[in-house]
Amino acid sequence: MFSREQLVSALERDELFLAYQPQVLPDGTSLAGVEALVRWQHPMRGPIGPKDFLFAVEAHGLSDDLGTWVLKRACRDALRWPSLTLSVNVSPTQFRKARFVERLVETVRETGFLLTRLELEIVETAFFEDPASAEAQLRHLRSFGIGLALDDFGIGYSSLSYLRRMPFTKLKIDKSFVDDVSMMHSAAIVHAVIALGRALGLKVTAEGVETAEQQQFLRVAGCHYLQGYLFSKPVAAAEIDAILSAASSPMVRSA
Ligand code: C2E
Ligand code: CA
Ligand code: CA
Repeated sequence: MFSREQLVSALERDELFLAYQPQVLPDGTSLAGVEALVRWQHPMRGPIGPKDFLFAVEAHGLSDDLGTWVLKRACRDALRWPSLTLSVNVSPTQFRKARFVERLVETVRETGFLLTRLELEIVETAFFEDPASAEAQLRHLRSFGIGLALDDFGIGYSSLSYLRRMPFTKLKIDKSFVDDVSMMHSAAIVHAVIALGRALGLKVTAEGVETAEQQQFLRVAGCHYLQGYLFSKPVAAAEIDAILSAASSPMVRSA
């Protein structure tokens, strides 16, 4: 595991960077938003993905520092993309910290980014410890017009009770269900989740879309947004600039 010193120095030496993954409309041609995903350009090891260092970040109590770094960088980059929604992942530890909302709002305002264009992606484990204060926290975020996406929907335990209670604006269907949409049971679950989301007035995004067949299925099923390698892997900010400046030409094939 990485030591605290290694992580702090990565932050101080600006070795972290963000990749942005497009979120597109179901036709696959229009960019609606981007999700910021953190990476580490390690001087010796080369690029390291978040799954290989986020655990250490949490363990060394650096979630807040990393979260603030990601938020600032993402908001600054996304100032160039006024037509897009910016989605940023928030770790459960970050979310549970005192004055999380106040500090987040202050950080975003410092960058000049519009709070109403920001969406936070949160997993349900963030609510386990204290659902009542989590609900208050989410309502506080909503009062600034910040979007709230429930990430990895479907793989947890009690998503339905959280859905009823918490003021989400979006559901993100986990990749594992999208992978198997050719199988009857997964297809039925995806249909049900989209219907549930729509009935609750939420937008629904499907993650990990890799094939034209999956796109076709999700489009017909009524998913609002799609995200996955079929459209684009997470890319550097400059590539988002390029996609937007070539906006008249479709970025991907449609099903
Ligand atoms: P996530 O939020 O569920 O992000 C989606 C992950 O799926 C990303 O992996 C993305 O690159 C990958 N992905 C997207 N489309 C496809 C596809 O079509 N096929 C496949 N096989 N994979 C796809 P990544 O970037 O490695 O991030 C992994 C996880 O690390 C994220 O899962 C998120 O939980 C966490 N993470 C990433 N950046 C941040 C961050 O800035 N803050 C926090 N707290 N967590 C982050
Ligand atoms: Ca996410
Ligand atoms: Ca996810």
